[in-house]
Amino acid sequence: MIIRENIPLSTITTMRLGGPADFVIDVENPNEALEAIVFAEEKNLPFYFLGTGANSLGLDEGFHGVIIRNHIKGIDIISESEDGIVVKVGGGEVWDDFVEFVTNKGYSGVEAMSKIPGSVAAAPVQNIGAYGQDVSNTLESVEVFDTMLDEYTEILAKDCDFAYRHSIFNSGDSAGRYFILTCTFRLLKGRIEPPFYNSLQAYLDEHSISDYSPRNIREAVSNIRAGKLPDPKAIASAGSFFKNFILSDAEADEAEKKGIPVYRTSTENKINTGWLLEDAGLKGKSFHGFKVSDKAALILINESAKTYADLEKAEAEIAKIIFDKYGLKIEPEPVIIKERALND
Ligand SMILES: Cc1cc2nc3c(=O)[nH]c(=O)nc-3n(C[C@H](O)[C@H](O)[C@H](O)COP(=O)(O)OP(=O)(O)OC[C@H]3O[C@@H](n4cnc5c(N)ncnc54)[C@H](O)[C@@H]3O)c2cc1C
Repeated sequence: MIIRENIPLSTITTMRLGGPADFVIDVENPNEALEAIVFAEEKNLPFYFLGTGANSLGLDEGFHGVIIRNHIKGIDIISESEDGIVVKVGGGEVWDDFVEFVTNKGYSGVEAMSKIPGSVAAAPVQNIGAYGQDVSNTLESVEVFDTMLDEYTEILAKDCDFAYRHSIFNSGDSAGRYFILTCTFRLLKGRIEPPFYNSLQAYLDEHSISDYSPRNIREAVSNIRAGKLPDPKAIASAGSFFKNFILSDAEADEAEKKGIPVYRTSTENKINTGWLLEDAGLKGKSFHGFKVSDKAALILINESAKTYADLEKAEAEIAKIIFDKYGLKIEPEPVIIKERALND
């Protein structure tokens, strides 16, 4: 177990903001999860779970407590047949390494989520998704350390209450309760079928790709993303800064009356908040050191800001412009690193 002291949150989050955390502990096996929690409890400090910080924001005052990060590695095949595979993945693995591994073997289910930055452990927390796939489609179960009952346990996907960017791991009383150790996925041999998202379909058409094999979809998605999304190693951002809207049928009708395009599927009605930002003329505009990306309007790039206070000002100004124009209240997607009520 590696324990470091006084680590700036700006160095362990991709938006590169935030003052120091008292301690950062990297956990390399399940037993160390308990040791890390005991370390925090003995010091009477709150703890907070972090992955690579690609969806997390540090406050200017930092975090007076213990940041616990999952560095458990390993991609283990539990079973494999002609039809599919069950794989257990250490939460400290890089998400895209796992996607590459199963996609190269020809399994379908996560290929459209290629190149999403972050750790495997964080993937179920936000129920990450892209181009029509999300984690809830293929996750079987997670192994966790339950900090409330002080025990190791398994949670089945059906009990995770998955919805758009929502799970028991980030919502309600259970947010921050479980330290995710490993994730088990079930993937099938096969391929995804149209209809695809517009940008993916356009890429496939342009490159005359009609074989939608997991490898081809992974390559297409990777190339689309490379063209418009910032590489966290080079450019500071937290990915999509604002959430998209999931609407009821009545709300969707209302939005369409206002001229806002709604993406309707059999399961959901969605407004792409990036469209709102672009339509409001915000693409490429700067606010307090943050720029609304000129390639993908949902992304707020930290060009020169040093404080979370600047981010708050930028967020409020952008939200006001959107509210005044469309009557819709946009909300940030990344989570703030702070003490959770659970640890009180
Ligand atoms: C350029 C860019 C593009 C992105 N594109 C997408 C996209 O297409 N789709 C998408 O869904 N997201 C996207 N994101 C957001 C981000 O990649 C995902 O949310 C990812 O899962 C974050 O992983 P992480 O390890 O960095 O998580 P962190 O930011 O470190 O943590 C995220 C959440 O998970 C919790 N957590 C972390 N580890 C654990 C653990 N072991 N146990 C319990 N809870 C834990 C944290 O407390 C926090 O609530 C993008 C981000 C960037 C920077």
